[in-house]
Amino acid sequence: MDLKAHIRDIPDFPQPGILFRDITPLLGNPTALQYSIDLFAEQVAEYRPDYIVGIESRGFIFGMPLAYKMGVGFAPVRKPGKLPAAVHAASYALEYGHDTIELHQDAFTPGSRVLIIDDLIATGGTAAATAQLVEQTGCTVAGFGFVIELVGLAGRAKLPDVPITVLLQY
Ligand code: AMP
Repeated sequence: MDLKAHIRDIPDFPQPGILFRDITPLLGNPTALQYSIDLFAEQVAEYRPDYIVGIESRGFIFGMPLAYKMGVGFAPVRKPGKLPAAVHAASYALEYGHDTIELHQDAFTPGSRVLIIDDLIATGGTAAATAQLVEQTGCTVAGFGFVIELVGLAGRAKLPDVPITVLLQY
């Protein structure tokens, strides 16, 4: 199945010069939606995760059905101030300034294997910061899964040396 046919390119969003890869047509197509979750599940099965962590907010959309399908737990990584219990926090550089993300300290049983899911990897900063959060909980990053990789930005160079699954590359 040609998943790329269900990704819409929006120029100059959210700011001039950015070509936004919009996954909402994929979500709206029942065949493409089911196919993308099934393909993810097939490709990451060998990572043997105990949990999936989804990165706010499009990582939730793909991470949760994948956790359900694989029969593992799910935890959200969120923007600051959203999670109610004690959190670990990690900051990462943006083009201008920095961003912070948070994960509940007790999200996982220590020693677990955690698979990190997001819709897209660009510079890799968000996913690398999520890996730090997982390590702060005393767990191991079992791998990463992205629907889309923007290959030109070389984001995977920022990630720890674990397996990476991507469904589509640009
Ligand atoms: P990065 O930390 O640079 O790898 O950015 C990844 C995050 O930003 C992901 O959560 C994506 O959803 C979002 N993102 C970055 N660039 C794009 C893009 N061109 N199209 C859609 N989403 C993007």
